[in-house]
Amino acid sequence: MQKDQLFTRRRMLLAGGAALGAAGTAGAVLAAGGADTARTAAAPAAGPRARRALAPNAFRLQPLTGDGPPRAAPRKLKVRQEPILRISGRGRRMVLTFDDGPHPDYTPDILDTLAEYDVRAMFFVCGECVVDNKELLARMADEGHVVGNHTWTHPLLTSLDRDEIRDEMESTSDVIEDAYGERPQWFRAPYGAWNRAAFQLGADMGMEPMAWTVDTTDWMEPGTSAIVDRVEEGAAPGVVVLSHDAGGDRSQTVRAIREWLPYLLDSGYHLTVPRRRV
Ligand SMILES: [Zn+2]
Repeated sequence: MQKDQLFTRRRMLLAGGAALGAAGTAGAVLAAGGADTARTAAAPAAGPRARRALAPNAFRLQPLTGDGPPRAAPRKLKVRQEPILRISGRGRRMVLTFDDGPHPDYTPDILDTLAEYDVRAMFFVCGECVVDNKELLARMADEGHVVGNHTWTHPLLTSLDRDEIRDEMESTSDVIEDAYGERPQWFRAPYGAWNRAAFQLGADMGMEPMAWTVDTTDWMEPGTSAIVDRVEEGAAPGVVVLSHDAGGDRSQTVRAIREWLPYLLDSGYHLTVPRRRV
């Protein structure tokens, strides 16, 4: 086996522990369990737990193709009529999401902070940003983050026809597979503007639609402390937090996460990534 194939396999195994399949009830999905996706407030950062995913038998759970034909078509999902807004499950779990990147000026800083606290997050990326920053998606894979599809050019989908929406979504899934090592299982419409075609196409491509519960409003650049306040006041079990690692000057976002992330952990929240089941 060639080295690059091994590397891809490793990335795939580290890519967040998400298993393909249908998710939970409308509007919510189960949070992933297990120590590899959660961290208690009291526990010191004890090394990258995602490495546990390298257990040898994990290979058998997820058959992979080597070179040769592309991976099998994704399993079709039930077509939702509204996006997932929060996660279900026991405990004080929250999901952190970062949209519009990757961006070479901000994404590495955010990844550094997540690594410092041994936390996994979701990144909804745009294809046009991925093409020049593939190494950032490789890093996300290596560090156990989940990458979702946020279209290629970040258009208002409700202004596009079905073929245009398909192109936006499909091309982005292709470049994610190339850079991250597997096709995305999650999709988020730009501006949270969903329509029936987006739900149908996403389901056809094996992606669940995920929105958010709390918008940090960092895209308005309201000041670091305002962003921190939004997150800390919005924190609650099941909350999905929306931040942005690109699309403007995100230095406030970068500074804010250094404050609110330890606050959430000290408050007993488990910051996790959602799980999908076979
Ligand atoms: Zn966006």
